[in-house]
Amino acid sequence: MTRAEVPVQKNEYREVFIEDLTHDGAGVAKIDGFPVFVQNTLPGEKAEIKILKVKKGYAFGKLVKLQEESKDRIQAPCPIYSQCGGCQLQHVSYEGQLRLKRKQVTDVLQRIGKLDMDKVKVHRTLGMQDPWNYRNKAQVPFAEREGGLVAGFYQQRSHEIIDMDRCLIQQAENDHVVQSVKGICRQYGISAYQEEKHKGWLRHVMVRYGAASKEMMIVFITRTGDFPHKAAIIDEITGRFPKIKSIVQNVNPKRTNVIFGNETNVIWGEEYIYDSIGDIQFAISARSFYQVNPEQTKVLYDKALEYAQLSGEESVIDAYCGIGTISLFLAQKAKKVFGVEIVPEAIEDAKRNAELNGIRNAAFAVGEAEQVIPQWYKEGNRADVIVVDPPRKGCDESLLNTIIDMKPKRVVYVSCNPATLARDLNILEQGGYQTVEVQPVDMFPHTMHCEAVAKIVLK
Ligand code: SAH
Repeated sequence: MTRAEVPVQKNEYREVFIEDLTHDGAGVAKIDGFPVFVQNTLPGEKAEIKILKVKKGYAFGKLVKLQEESKDRIQAPCPIYSQCGGCQLQHVSYEGQLRLKRKQVTDVLQRIGKLDMDKVKVHRTLGMQDPWNYRNKAQVPFAEREGGLVAGFYQQRSHEIIDMDRCLIQQAENDHVVQSVKGICRQYGISAYQEEKHKGWLRHVMVRYGAASKEMMIVFITRTGDFPHKAAIIDEITGRFPKIKSIVQNVNPKRTNVIFGNETNVIWGEEYIYDSIGDIQFAISARSFYQVNPEQTKVLYDKALEYAQLSGEESVIDAYCGIGTISLFLAQKAKKVFGVEIVPEAIEDAKRNAELNGIRNAAFAVGEAEQVIPQWYKEGNRADVIVVDPPRKGCDESLLNTIIDMKPKRVVYVSCNPATLARDLNILEQGGYQTVEVQPVDMFPHTMHCEAVAKIVLK
């Protein structure tokens, strides 16, 4: 499109109809087919907008006035919703959120996956009874304001930290601990990290809560390896919160916005806290990946297990296995499970977790799934069922090609990004597989994040 053909101009006011929502929660209007993204609008709404910025193929607009409201629109319950940016859908009823997520999955399966939608059943999103207080992990940045410590969240599109006492999607217990740590550190004159000057000590505090075990862990992420007033601070914290079983210090001396550094030391109590999902217990260390919504994790893993349709005779591969969570779920129903994961510490945890639960038919290997699994195939190993749970970027194509060559009867794809799920399903379909069912599971209520499990069978 040349400049002259672009149908909108900067600073212009227009009336638009919102047709869709982007993956980050902005409304999408089309002006003569030209997409305009408008924050804080919803599909089905009519709005007056002001054009803020015009790019080659799209534009950004700002909501001026809503002329027709979506029936799903509600008042966001959180008082800091507009500043924070951690949630994107609090202004949508929960029912509406679940519908939007299902639609998001259906749309990409059609548009990106080019699937024949008559052959795929996309179920209604499985949501939570009470979609609040669900996060088992808080990761809170610290800063100093006029001499006092503050801790909260980065204001949207900025590095300014806004002080916060309560996050409505967080386990209340985690917020209480963060508040207390903030108070205690203030009392002892602890300094916070200052990004611009690369000075100061406390960068982040992470708190983890085992929803089933009620055990808690605190991780102090600091710029240097010392710990001023260590004994007194630990005494105060453990005196107030008997649920705390572990206090850890992670040192990150770098000028970076990556949260964790490479050095991790237990400074009080245990190296792990324990938690369980269903009948299986997990030891979780400070650096382990562990799903943040324990209630929905159970729903997700049960669905993955159902789609695997195990009789006890199968050999199963669990690719991207993390600390072995899905592998151990599968092992209860399979002959043998092989987990693969790139992070060596996670594999150590996975082995320990197998032992902890007396599970002997699970084995784990460190490496890239796209390296290890083709190697297994070359050595003559086959799996009856393959489960994959990749990060947002999806599976490497060489892994998908190996799956196609290996011909497992079923593939179960657990995805945290519908777009890459759709792309990968397209490759599997071209290789002789058929997607039969997709179940969206709401792991992250009030955010745009969308998790789904797909059942894929060999034709
Ligand atoms: N199934 C686990 C973890 C899922 S998160 C659970 O439910 O808890 C995705 C995992 O993939 C992470 O643990 C990440 O470290 C791992 N990973 C990322 N790239 C990988 C690759 N190329 N090969 C194997 N594992 C990888």
